[in-house]
Amino acid sequence: MTTQTIATVLGYPRQGPRRELKTAVEAYWAGRSSADQLLAAARELRLARLAELAAAGLGEIPGNDFSLYDHVLDAVMLLGAIPERFDHAVSRLDLYFALARGTEGLEPLEMTKWFDTNYHYLVPELGPDTEFALDPAKVLGEFDEATAAGVVTRPVVPGPVSFLLLAKSVEAGFRPLELLDRILPLYVSLLAQLREHGAEWVQLDEPCLVLDQPGEVLERVDHAYAVLGGAANRPSILVATYFDRLGEAWPVLASAPVEGLAVDFTGPAAANLEQLERLGGLPGKRLVAGLIDGRNVWAADLGKALALAERLAPLAGRVDVAASCSLLHVPLDVEMETVPPQLDGWLAFARQKLAEAVTVARGLADGRDGIGRELERSRAALERRANSPLTHVAAVRDRVGERGAPRATPYAERAREQACALGLPELPTTTIGSFPQTRELRAARAAWRRGALSQADYEAAMRAEIAAVVAEQERAGLDVLVHGEPERNDMVQYFAEQLDGYWASEFGWVQSYGSRYVRPPILFGDVSRPAPITVPWITYAQSLTDRPVKGMLTGPVTMLAWSFVRDDQPLGETAAQVALALRDEVLDLERAGTAVIQVDEPALRELLPLRRADRPAYLEWAVGAFWLATAGVADATQIHTHMCYAEFGDIMEAIVAMDPDVISLEAARSGAGVIRELAGSGLAGAVGPGVWDIHSPRIPPVEELAGKVRALRAAFGARAWVNPDCGLKTRRPEEVEAALANLVAATKLVRAAVNSA
Ligand code: GLN
Ligand code: ZN
Repeated sequence: MTTQTIATVLGYPRQGPRRELKTAVEAYWAGRSSADQLLAAARELRLARLAELAAAGLGEIPGNDFSLYDHVLDAVMLLGAIPERFDHAVSRLDLYFALARGTEGLEPLEMTKWFDTNYHYLVPELGPDTEFALDPAKVLGEFDEATAAGVVTRPVVPGPVSFLLLAKSVEAGFRPLELLDRILPLYVSLLAQLREHGAEWVQLDEPCLVLDQPGEVLERVDHAYAVLGGAANRPSILVATYFDRLGEAWPVLASAPVEGLAVDFTGPAAANLEQLERLGGLPGKRLVAGLIDGRNVWAADLGKALALAERLAPLAGRVDVAASCSLLHVPLDVEMETVPPQLDGWLAFARQKLAEAVTVARGLADGRDGIGRELERSRAALERRANSPLTHVAAVRDRVGERGAPRATPYAERAREQACALGLPELPTTTIGSFPQTRELRAARAAWRRGALSQADYEAAMRAEIAAVVAEQERAGLDVLVHGEPERNDMVQYFAEQLDGYWASEFGWVQSYGSRYVRPPILFGDVSRPAPITVPWITYAQSLTDRPVKGMLTGPVTMLAWSFVRDDQPLGETAAQVALALRDEVLDLERAGTAVIQVDEPALRELLPLRRADRPAYLEWAVGAFWLATAGVADATQIHTHMCYAEFGDIMEAIVAMDPDVISLEAARSGAGVIRELAGSGLAGAVGPGVWDIHSPRIPPVEELAGKVRALRAAFGARAWVNPDCGLKTRRPEEVEAALANLVAATKLVRAAVNSA
């Protein structure tokens, strides 16, 4: 090898150790600080981050990976792809935030999930008439800023093909990829300017190349990099891919006239190794090998990572070591936490992952002996984890042998028994679970956590809220009631806190979108339920009313999707453990007299593997976990599920296989589409496509709701339910009261018409 191996990362968390970025951005939005103050705070954060990355011993540091809101939005600004409805007269900063958040009467860009992570990006809006204009101020400014601080960074910019594939078309039938030749000259110009400013490398992110892409897209990739690679005056180009294996895109990228590829070798992307070997490697090119998992929180197996690096070394002109993707998706620093002593040495957040990459790079450059101590420490920690009683609880292991099976009695028969037991009218009305989370509720929960509110006072406050919510639903005339979930901070965290095998960090914030951060719980060991979780709340609610109160649980797949999960066993096995814990809760609820139980699976679609070939196996264990959790109940017990934020088409077969008695679905974005998909699916059970878009403060009028209820009745007959799109926790109490009154009134109108016909 001609050049010494180095360590690098593809991107780093932006928020700062105390989420200083959130504070600064929100102060600006609220008018409490000026643009200059915001930009100064951002600069300070960037410089601190730069110093941190340099001190960690990275050989090359990414640039332009900082963002005030979102890196795809930054690319929209870079390319000047501003939809016409936005006012260009305001400052660049205000235009930027207007695109992100909208303004009075102006819709922001749509937001959607970043691959299969919990990060959300803003979707570029492109059409045949979109005009582009390069604005490289941010890229160049941050490059110069770092140079002045003594670091020549490797600027990170979304690649042209992924930028277009991530965009949505504003015109039916138009494909944004058709704009490729219009944006390539802007990239060429950006490359030239970066070169003039002294950049040696630039990183173009092309994560879309890990998806199944048809030949015509690969042909465009080939074209794009022929143009960019052929540009006369440019830095060396590193094309970065991550989150899965490259597959068909391998030969295209390997033969592209670019100097380097960054490739993920973790998780399902481990298959990249054989693919690269089969291809004959990347002679003469730089390979930045993603050997440290950038998406989980576990300390790496350094020995294994080094062995992989050694195997890769002869396959490229030069091999560097990196995390598999931007470290944006993990918390910043485990040293800030009070980690339970049993988990000592198991965890690695972003800062720890830097050190791991540096160690592996050193091992590859100087030989194993140079990192003997680190290798030994890593081996010992992994051994402790593997042999820990927490990761192998016999009582849990014995049960996981039980595999899920669907309910034995067919839906039609179950439905008859449930009708007798519940006595619901036609077009039953219900809600999805949560009621408004008021400031008082949050304050009460927080005070109780701090110890400032006694257990008895806390319970009294929650009971008072439950009583109010039950009374409100009776007044509104709903048929199946809920307790309102006042005791839950978050639908996953609440359960995680009460299950064995989960740990909640204190500062483990990860960006979800914009200034919103989540703190996913960490599932580290075998999962079980030491005591009933929801039973006291639900039975209390039921004691206040003659109408059925739904028990409300978070499903096994969602419990995994919104957590960091263990990497030492297949995900399906972890799902089965969570499902068994939930099964205990389901059966306890049933025993306590709960006749309707809802197991929410809003994340079922988002955990779907990126590659189609991996999907059947996933759906099989996901459906099995639902059965395991729910299928043990009596025929007369009605099992609901709920899903939202997703295209359901991809998972319709799984929904059918889950065989719920009732499913409620978000239908705001495409009511007719959801109805069509459900109607053609072969689903046996009842359905409630949402009639009220709870993401908007708008209160739908009775006539509009009645129209939707009529359509449901026409499509599904006696199988139609009436409900909102999702939980009501983000709405204001007045909005909920008014909208639920309208929802019931509309349902009664349609019922009356049905009965008189
Ligand atoms: N039961 C939950 C609620 O109503 C469901 C939330 C969700 O689907 N995201 O809040
Ligand atoms: Zn929902």
